[in-house]
Amino acid sequence: MTQQRIYNFNAGPAALPLQVLQEIQTSFLNFDNSGMSITEISHRSSYFDDVINDAVARAKRLLNLDDRFHVLFIQGGASLQFAMVPMNFLSSDDTADYIDTGTWSTKAITEAKIQNKNYTVVASSEENNFSYIPKNIQFSENAKYVHLTSNNTIKGTQFHEFPDTKGIPIVCDMSSDIFSRSLDMEKFGLIYAGAQKNLGPSGTCMVIIRQDMLDMANENLPSMLKYSTYSSKNSMYNTPPCFGIYTIDLVLKWIEEEMGGLEKIEEYNRQKAALLYDFMGSTSFYNATAQEDSRSLMNVTFRLPTEAQEKLFVAKAMENGFGGLKGHRSVGGCRASIYNAATMESIDNLIKFMETFAEENK
Ligand SMILES: *Cc1c(COP(=O)(O)O)cnc(C)c1O
Repeated sequence: MTQQRIYNFNAGPAALPLQVLQEIQTSFLNFDNSGMSITEISHRSSYFDDVINDAVARAKRLLNLDDRFHVLFIQGGASLQFAMVPMNFLSSDDTADYIDTGTWSTKAITEAKIQNKNYTVVASSEENNFSYIPKNIQFSENAKYVHLTSNNTIKGTQFHEFPDTKGIPIVCDMSSDIFSRSLDMEKFGLIYAGAQKNLGPSGTCMVIIRQDMLDMANENLPSMLKYSTYSSKNSMYNTPPCFGIYTIDLVLKWIEEEMGGLEKIEEYNRQKAALLYDFMGSTSFYNATAQEDSRSLMNVTFRLPTEAQEKLFVAKAMENGFGGLKGHRSVGGCRASIYNAATMESIDNLIKFMETFAEENK
């Protein structure tokens, strides 16, 4: 089989840097001269210790995290975090604020509701089909945290500035834009991100938690559901998702050593997204669905004039080596996910294809 690699615009699991995949391939049978694959090594060995410690150290360096922050790896995806957050931080007298920007934040709210927790939805863009990020939000004075989703993978919207919560810690689902830009960490008490968008394979979720959040967390919970179990055991209370953590380590190394860190990758991500949005702005055939000031740099969602044209577009794109352009089943339309690993070359070529397709199918 001589099948080539395609230009992969999948939303998640998504493209990983080619260099990372090649490094995994080269080391797969004999990791670090151990005579074993990374998938065969004990998580209690010094080999794996080095991997997880390196991943944590790189995450801390990239985000300039000080000693208050702990970097954890937890299974169950971002979806388990929807439930663990209210479980750990809200006792019966407490309340939290939620911003609803659709899909994922809606699911996070549902998990607080299922547990009978007190919460307020302080802002929502539902009335406009979640096509924008709400601004000028009033927060509750007594909220333990403010939960928001930094980038809505499905609706193609993104917070370009985080709200001033007057010192209330932000708990943020960053699954689809973590490590895509630099962050002012002062606002965040907890960040979580399922790995399969911008970090590595599915099966692990990175959680960054500040000490004061750990200090106020409920200890009266099953071991696997409390943050302190992970923070006190370097994420190895039980067997962690070793291969996922290893891949994340390589991706973080790639960001640091090949891409030059978060400011550089942010600049690159801005250029990539601008190319695509500017091109669409120059045609009447492709229409971005998110409002201009809320457009995501990671997930570019758009429509064609008809659903039949969209269907044909996705099929023709695949024939030409561009995969993953179908919009999420809940919203339809088209979507190009252009995470860190998407190259400028892939976007240049996608635009050429889009031009030709528009010409031929007007
Ligand atoms: C994909 C995604 C999720 C769900 O992640 P799982 O790891 O599948 O639970 C949650 N939030 C956002 C923003 C996502 O993009």
